[in-house]
Amino acid sequence: MIGPCALCQHERKLCRSHVLPEFMYAKSYDENGTFISLSSHPQRKPRPFQVGAREHMLCSECEGRLSVYEAYSADLLRSIDAIPYQGQKGAEVEYDYHRFKLFGLSLLWRSHVSRLHDYQRFSVGPLAEDMRRMLLADDPGSARMCPFTAARFVGSEAAQHTIHVPVNLKLNGQHVVFFPAFGYQWLFVTSRRSHSIPDSWPLVGFTDKLVVPFEPTTDARFMAWLKSKMTPDLLN
Ligand SMILES: [Zn+2]
Repeated sequence: MIGPCALCQHERKLCRSHVLPEFMYAKSYDENGTFISLSSHPQRKPRPFQVGAREHMLCSECEGRLSVYEAYSADLLRSIDAIPYQGQKGAEVEYDYHRFKLFGLSLLWRSHVSRLHDYQRFSVGPLAEDMRRMLLADDPGSARMCPFTAARFVGSEAAQHTIHVPVNLKLNGQHVVFFPAFGYQWLFVTSRRSHSIPDSWPLVGFTDKLVVPFEPTTDARFMAWLKSKMTPDLLN
């Protein structure tokens, strides 16, 4: 399929891609290669969820741009997964701000530009154009430009398998976006007033090392938490 690439905006042959990068779906397949535990509505039985579908979004050159951040971040997240949980509050690891920040931005931006049904209600508004330019220019921006955190869920299999469309919320007066994917809770601050974020928040780029909080939970608590964060208009 030929069309405008969402990133470079040139008319190109477009690749068929998942909304989120391929590796993030790996934990959501069982040993038989069947997609599991995916639902946009935790109160209903899991159903095949559009989040696993593919769409024509990027040209191969732009896929290549983002794959640099993805390959790095996949290794980084797997190394964090390998840290044994012994009741500690989290981990601090060496990391490359440049690639991990752009990886985080790419997750939010890809969810914004997706035309798949389940993503239709999700938007980051005008911030999407800033993100597109940053991704195209390979520019991670300052730490306070759309900062995020990824907290590792421990103790819940369901949390490992669940990928959810991002949800817009308010937290301590800030506009935030959250979603679970790859066994992590991803939380982005999308407020324009991000200069007022307390320095103590463990956000990517706020500290020399990457701070990864650990979130102990159970399957029941994880599902209840997911339900509590859902906005009613997403329950369709
Ligand atoms: Zn492109």
